[in-house]
Amino acid sequence: MGARSAVEIDAWLRGGGLVVTASERAARSIAAAFNRSRRAEGLTAWPASNIQDWQTFARNAWSERGSDGRVVLNGLQEQALWAGIVAAASPQAAQLAGARDRLADLAMEAHGLICAYAPQLLNQKARSAWDQDAAAFSAWLVDFDETCRAANLLSAARLPLELIPTLEADSSTRPPLLLAGFDRILRTQQALFAAWGDYAEVPLGDAASRIEFHQAADPSSELVACALWCKRQLAANPKARLLVITQDVSKRRGEMERAFLRFARTEGSAAGPSSLFEFSLGVPLSQVTTARGAGLLLRWLDRPIDEHEVDWLLSTGQAAARREESSALIAYVRALRRRNLQRTRWTLADFLRQKPGAELPAAWVARMTHAQRRLQEFARRPQSPLAWAEFTPQMLDEAGWPGARPLASTEFQAVRRWRQTVDDCASLGFDGRRIEWQEFLAALDHAVNETLFAPESQDAAILIAGPAESAGLTADAIWFLGANEEAWPAGGATHPLLPLAVKREAGMPHASPKLDWELATVMTRRLLASAPEVHFSFSRQNDGVDARPSRLVAQLADAPQPLSAELAALEIPAPLTVSFDDASQIPFPPGDAPGGASVLTAQSQCPFKAFATARLGAQDWEPAEAGLTAQERGQLLHAVLHSIWAGPPDGIRTHAELANIQDRLSAFVKDHVRRGLQAKMPSRARECMPSKYLELEEARLVELVTEWLRYESSRVPFTVLETEQKATASIAELTLHLRLDRIDRLIDDTLLVIDYKSGNVSPSSWDLPRPDDVQLPLYAEFALDCETERLGGLVFAKVRTGESNREFAGCVRDAKTTLFPGLTGNSGLMRRKLTGEDMAAWRACIEQLARNFLAGQAEVDPRDYPKTCVRCGLQALCRIEENPPQPEDTNSGDGEEADNA
Ligand code: SF4
Repeated sequence: MGARSAVEIDAWLRGGGLVVTASERAARSIAAAFNRSRRAEGLTAWPASNIQDWQTFARNAWSERGSDGRVVLNGLQEQALWAGIVAAASPQAAQLAGARDRLADLAMEAHGLICAYAPQLLNQKARSAWDQDAAAFSAWLVDFDETCRAANLLSAARLPLELIPTLEADSSTRPPLLLAGFDRILRTQQALFAAWGDYAEVPLGDAASRIEFHQAADPSSELVACALWCKRQLAANPKARLLVITQDVSKRRGEMERAFLRFARTEGSAAGPSSLFEFSLGVPLSQVTTARGAGLLLRWLDRPIDEHEVDWLLSTGQAAARREESSALIAYVRALRRRNLQRTRWTLADFLRQKPGAELPAAWVARMTHAQRRLQEFARRPQSPLAWAEFTPQMLDEAGWPGARPLASTEFQAVRRWRQTVDDCASLGFDGRRIEWQEFLAALDHAVNETLFAPESQDAAILIAGPAESAGLTADAIWFLGANEEAWPAGGATHPLLPLAVKREAGMPHASPKLDWELATVMTRRLLASAPEVHFSFSRQNDGVDARPSRLVAQLADAPQPLSAELAALEIPAPLTVSFDDASQIPFPPGDAPGGASVLTAQSQCPFKAFATARLGAQDWEPAEAGLTAQERGQLLHAVLHSIWAGPPDGIRTHAELANIQDRLSAFVKDHVRRGLQAKMPSRARECMPSKYLELEEARLVELVTEWLRYESSRVPFTVLETEQKATASIAELTLHLRLDRIDRLIDDTLLVIDYKSGNVSPSSWDLPRPDDVQLPLYAEFALDCETERLGGLVFAKVRTGESNREFAGCVRDAKTTLFPGLTGNSGLMRRKLTGEDMAAWRACIEQLARNFLAGQAEVDPRDYPKTCVRCGLQALCRIEENPPQPEDTNSGDGEEADNA
């Protein structure tokens, strides 16, 4: 359909003729072109064009003539009917709502294919030889027909078939039809148009005068070339209408948006994204923020929802009637996290019940509680879908949805579309059914998932569409992306509920490669006739695999050529973000810093991390776990060891005391584990986990600690001086509040600083010049009274399962004399001795880190990229991934993974 055809359609419409298009998109596009032409003629008002897409045409023709009283089912109603039939016939296969809906969708689709391609198979006898899944579907179809007959219902897929005899019997005069945008006219459509009377198809126009086939190195350079080409076209003719065809638009939507925003804008253009380009196909309504929020709120009034859903819902402000309410809700969720009260799922009641030290807004609590009570009251008995559809928006209004902030135009349209979908669900009462709330909610979820949402067209300069959706569209120029051998002709799966022989004979989609080839040929020829200039492109490599050009395209457009210089050499426009070197530093006031030693560890790992965590309070959120997290297990271990080494009356203090309890060690440990669990087991784990789980945790801890104490009993005699000792360290005017796991006095009267770890840590993390961890050196240098005491060593106590994993690792002055007499020269403790030089160097390094922190040094500079960043979790804040360090910038740290116990 080229320029000549467009003129022909315009003349037809101006004469008051009726145009029938293959799709709604084609109808809209022709209407837009018609209106543009009238405006170009200087008109300010003109009669509306008479354009109907195929489905609307059939419905209108039926409603004008089909007065036999049957109700035409809409999509939701028909799907519900199929779901009921599938569930009755195969209760086991359809036990879960999702599986039942999928089967119902497949059955509905198979019925639609039969109606469109092989209506003779609607006769049950013609299906008698079908077996297996096809036989099951055939039986469902019999039930479907009987249900429709008994309830006087008519499937929309049957409308054309029912219309044919009606039209043949009706001798009234009907206006001739002009058909536009049909890649092929199916048998049923042909019969219907013939019964209608005169009709003609818009002929294909002349093939494009300029056809090119480009070869790019990879998909992203292909996409950039296309965007640059659009830019050149629009620079030459700002009023040009361009069509970009791509097959995997749903997968590459984000990538395409970025490429067009970055490369397709013409200099000086103030055009916003929506007037520059738009997608022909929408996204599922369930993926649109406001619709997703509505669904979550409704579920939450009745069922638990995941913690990340609660977090998302509240942080998007969709349940807040005022801005302050929104901030308070976010603060409440943060407080839950800080207090370690996170859960994998939250009921509304549990959420309201918490006391994390932050208050929920009273008005919000009142609204949510009231909405929940109303729902409980209303849901006591099944209701008609109409009643549920009226009730649902009321509850959401009450909960504050869609929030206090003013809605942007697209959000407003999405809210409207969501409300329409709720109204559509009211039609599920067509058979007088009454349903439970959960059933209505499941139907609404399904409808929201199936509904595609596309914001109103802004008549953008670039339209991005799939090959089939582009039927009936014309443009000043077209670019077809992804014309490689595997992708074009497009293959696809055939329908699983219909026999292959039937599909082949009826020519159903993807029934054979020959059919795919024929259809793709028709589409390609149609595209060639839809614009004076058509470009195809493919990339030589796809996902690291070599790709070949489409044979079909090569036949019509000759062999592909490398991208021309202006499309290949990236004309990278000036970035929208102006970057500058931010050398400013905002000093931290001398005094207390939060986080203890971790602030200086962070300063060493990456100055921005220290700034973000200690000064901005930024925090990475691990997903909540129903059981104990690694951190909670570590805290329990600390609590048990503290209880054991706390001294009399219940604990012990010395190596000798440990030796004395060897025969009852297990019972001794068990007793302390019980105390530790009682005091420190998070309430969440107690409430959410079965008692068997808690018993297993207890047994695991008893074994772990018993084995550790056996290991410690092989030490040279020692005395535990302190456990969990609080200390304050002043370092270059920075005050840090510390807690030391344990300090032992060794046999030579020196002190051993011990830090319990359950992960795989290594003393190499203290290596200078840029340590990955400064905790123990900092304790040793700044928290002990070095005037009166002499340091004997600092060690990680690796309390882990397995004999080879269990050990002290660190630096000790004389490990053989003070720790284990049997140590050999190969032992790490023997190889790495603590020296006065080490201590002095650590002191200097730590003081420098403190000075840097106080000075406000906050560069994004990870010590060992990307390893340091993987353990950090602040990527969203520092945006390191947008500007990763170049290899020569990175420091080659060799610190091992440290898993804090
Ligand atoms: S993610 Fe990496 S660069 Fe970003 S703050 Fe953390 S350590 Fe620094």
